[in-house]
Amino acid sequence: MDFRISSIKIRALGLQSGATLRLHAPQPRMTTDNLPNTRAETIATAPDIPLRVVDLIREKRDGRELSSGEIEALVSGYTRGEIPDYQISALLMAAVLRGLTRSETAALTDAMLRSGEVLDLSEFSVAKVDKHSTGGVGDKTSLVLAPVAAAGGLLVPMISGRGLGHTGGTLDKLESIPGFNVNLSLAEFRRVLRGCGCCMIGQTGEIAPADRKLYALRDVTGTVESPYLICASIMSKKLAEGIDALILDVKTGSGAFMKSEEDAVFLAELMVETGQRMGKKVVALVTDMDQPLGFRIGNSLEVIEVLEILHGEGPAALRELCLELAGWMFLVGGAVPSLSAGKQIAQQIIDSGRGLAKFREMVELQGGDLSVIDDPMRLPRAKHIVEVLSPENGYVAAIASETVGTACVILGGGREKKEDTVDPSVGIVLHKKVGDPVSAKESLASIHYNSESRAGKAKQLIQESYHIAGAPPSESRPLVHRVIPATGGQN
Ligand code: URA
Repeated sequence: MDFRISSIKIRALGLQSGATLRLHAPQPRMTTDNLPNTRAETIATAPDIPLRVVDLIREKRDGRELSSGEIEALVSGYTRGEIPDYQISALLMAAVLRGLTRSETAALTDAMLRSGEVLDLSEFSVAKVDKHSTGGVGDKTSLVLAPVAAAGGLLVPMISGRGLGHTGGTLDKLESIPGFNVNLSLAEFRRVLRGCGCCMIGQTGEIAPADRKLYALRDVTGTVESPYLICASIMSKKLAEGIDALILDVKTGSGAFMKSEEDAVFLAELMVETGQRMGKKVVALVTDMDQPLGFRIGNSLEVIEVLEILHGEGPAALRELCLELAGWMFLVGGAVPSLSAGKQIAQQIIDSGRGLAKFREMVELQGGDLSVIDDPMRLPRAKHIVEVLSPENGYVAAIASETVGTACVILGGGREKKEDTVDPSVGIVLHKKVGDPVSAKESLASIHYNSESRAGKAKQLIQESYHIAGAPPSESRPLVHRVIPATGGQN
């Protein structure tokens, strides 16, 4: 990248004026398309002009394109703690409402990627492959895929996120295993990778620290649902991992950030294009999130379901999606000639117990309590359980999955404010899924809770999320809606 900001000076001017960024004599800007470049030229011909953050917020609010230098300055200033949360929140909201150009998205991804280190994993001779989901309700596939792929010979250096909005986060789920440490240094990350071939951590101060800060801020400012911000967030941390290939699970439906298939495909193409630009093999699967994945939602409840899958049991749709994603990981990692061969290997790994054994190795190397793997009842458990009963006879026609995810957050299973700590024990166990017959007063779901007042609100939300009708839906939604291969074409 030849764009350089030699120094950024921030002056605290109070609420009226906000922070000021000073850009010095930039080199030609980085662009990935042919959008007009007027702003960068102004800066280039007039170095040392101070740019106030509030002016950049206004620019974005009014729909103008920010230059890559301005974006770089904003990201690095925020990462260093020199720009306050309230200004970045306003900017993020402007970006959600106005959208970003391809050039802005590329600049944001690059700035976030370069806010930290890019790992060099060339010491490992095997293919380095990861998978990432755009987020859903009950989506615990990462905890199955990392050990299964590693048991099949791939290296899986997985850097994951926490719960975001109504969706659960891989790190929060892993932390429900007592002692499990997701905050490893990069040296420890390598040690675990050498030990068992997979490791699951959060962004360290070293890896995409900008995303760590922005992700937490977006979570509590209603600024998650933007394909451009999601693309930059996911791709910045994934591209920092030193991987060769990446499988993206882009969710669509009522529990996803991208509710419509069209929006999900747009996001999938954006991320595949970004990965390709960086020389990585990226395939995106647009998969169904119109109802929660599996039956269990909530951190330790989801770990129980992961263990079921690794024992060759568990909900059929979750098992099928895990096999599909693992199959793709083996295929892009060059381990198999076809998707069906990849799925077969994943199935054999689970059937033989090698996936579970690998999960055990990873938990041990990351400091987790192994006794919960032998006895999942030792995972944190909520004090109380209450049932949500069906008001009538009929069939489950739909489940408003975002509402189910929100109910879990309200129980304490996710965050409403950045500083909130997550309660690993609470959550929801669904007893009825879309298409199931149900009788009046039969349990639709159980709520696992520790606080009466939270349980009351969650119960109301779960009741509202179930739509009971006289007949089941006429069509069932496919598990995998589309595959967007590296060429940008569609299957
Ligand atoms: N997952 C991420 O890592 N980032 C987002 O913005 C959304 C989902």
